[in-house]
Amino acid sequence: MTRNFTKDEVSCKCGCGLEMPQNEQDRLQHTRDDYGKAIFVARTISCAKHNKKIGGAKKSRHLTGDAVDPEDRTFENSADRAFFIKCATKNGYNCFGIGGKRLHMDARYEDKFEIVLLWTY
Ligand SMILES: [Zn+2]
Repeated sequence: MTRNFTKDEVSCKCGCGLEMPQNEQDRLQHTRDDYGKAIFVARTISCAKHNKKIGGAKKSRHLTGDAVDPEDRTFENSADRAFFIKCATKNGYNCFGIGGKRLHMDARYEDKFEIVLLWTY
């Protein structure tokens, strides 16, 4: 839990109580501070059981807790979305997936403050 994110938002959706590591909650909060507006999160951390249930990737970064999927309503327009990605990379998110109505981002490469991987899904 941080200033702008509830315990539910930073926990596994199955109700098991698994929470994102504190440093990853801080990374998300700092991104939100830089962005200056709400980030609506579709998914953060998942336990192995829940990840399997929803068909997540075997080595999903949601399992390690550094992945966040912001819903597209987080962004007002294309410029806003671009600014958000700038804020996210500044805080160490370095891998991005562009989904239909959500974005995926994770920080799998330690201390890389630029986009390393970018995919669609
Ligand atoms: Zn769970």
